[in-house]
Amino acid sequence: MSTPPRLAGARVGALDLYEYQGKELFRRYGIPVSDGRLASTPAEARRAAEELAGDVVVKAQVLTGGRGKAGGVRLAASPAEAEARAAEILGLEIRGHVVRSVWVEAASEIAKEYYLAVTFDRGAKKPLLLLTREGGVEIEEVAARDPRALARVYVEPLVGYLPYEGRALVHAAGIADVGERRQLLAIVEKLCRCFSAEEAMLCEINPLIVTPAGELKALDAKVTIDDSALFRHPDVAAMRDTSAGDPLEALAREKGVTYVHLGGSVGILANGAGLAMATVDLVVVAGGRPANFCDLGGGGRAEGVVAALDVIARDPQVRSIFLNVFGGLTRGDDVARGILAALERTAITVPLVARLDGTNAEEGRSILREARLDRLHVEPTMIAAAERAVGLAA
Ligand code: GDP
Ligand code: MN
Repeated sequence: MSTPPRLAGARVGALDLYEYQGKELFRRYGIPVSDGRLASTPAEARRAAEELAGDVVVKAQVLTGGRGKAGGVRLAASPAEAEARAAEILGLEIRGHVVRSVWVEAASEIAKEYYLAVTFDRGAKKPLLLLTREGGVEIEEVAARDPRALARVYVEPLVGYLPYEGRALVHAAGIADVGERRQLLAIVEKLCRCFSAEEAMLCEINPLIVTPAGELKALDAKVTIDDSALFRHPDVAAMRDTSAGDPLEALAREKGVTYVHLGGSVGILANGAGLAMATVDLVVVAGGRPANFCDLGGGGRAEGVVAALDVIARDPQVRSIFLNVFGGLTRGDDVARGILAALERTAITVPLVARLDGTNAEEGRSILREARLDRLHVEPTMIAAAERAVGLAA
């Protein structure tokens, strides 16, 4: 195929799979999942339910979590009900993602909800196994509320998964039941095989349920594959969705950032739509091409700056970022601290040019200068900053 490389999933450098695609992978590796069908119309959902027979669950297929809470996961006791639920779910917007298809699967009875994942710990440079008996909810909640409830065990990357690592994990999570332990060890092993063979960055099962009969099953699937490895996995590469629109714009919607992708190399972040538009113009005047329009809105809170920088930096075409803030009610020193906090919390590698003006601008500029970050350039005027950003992107 001669298709040019394009952005992956909601993240650059990674392909996020839909639940039904993740479950297809799980099934190939022998991880227990329910039988199901994909449907993009209510009539298809009805037919799926007829084929599956019995109670079904109708699940929105969007590249974001929290579907259950948003009304995107509904039980149906008959094909007619499945059709009705699908009609409600299709077209729904969940965290900025419009539902284009539903996964209809045989409903499961749930006695317990666990959480199991393999991910990378970039600090330790090792795959990390995570397991907790407090599944179902978002894992960040568990980690924040009771860190000890979340068992963490590393996989030795040069050796690959060994059963003792699984045993240590299951023990640390306090899984006492012998039957559950046996099934869990098998699933952990298969999930690790899937993780390394498919060159994944994340394989997450939340919830991993225990049925009243004591059987374990993956009720959800979140799989992220390393983009750089996709050429070795044409079957997975073909799972990429090209209909979901601009993935960065979807991610921005999810994070509540006002963002329009423009395709150039100078990322732009300004507060207020007017200033953001003027900044886009200025980059063009300075001979550059804006990568995006991004309005931070009022305030220079770290969270807003982090979210916006995160979106902008995921555009692989971005070579420099021009941050243009005029402090009216927003104070320059607050913005400066927001920028520094954002730089600490994001993995930005491209140079960032900051221009601060207005209230407490001088305080803000000196905070930035005193941080002495190589990739952070402070310029006093808009035009100087635009020229600097364009130069750095060349
Ligand atoms: P998420 O909200 O996007 O993480 O979607 P999940 O696939 O995890 O589903 C959310 C919740 O719906 C689960 O935690 C379950 O409690 C519930 N759920 C999903 N599938 C079934 C099912 O087959 N039977 C029952 N009873 N509940 C289900
Ligand atoms: Mn889930």
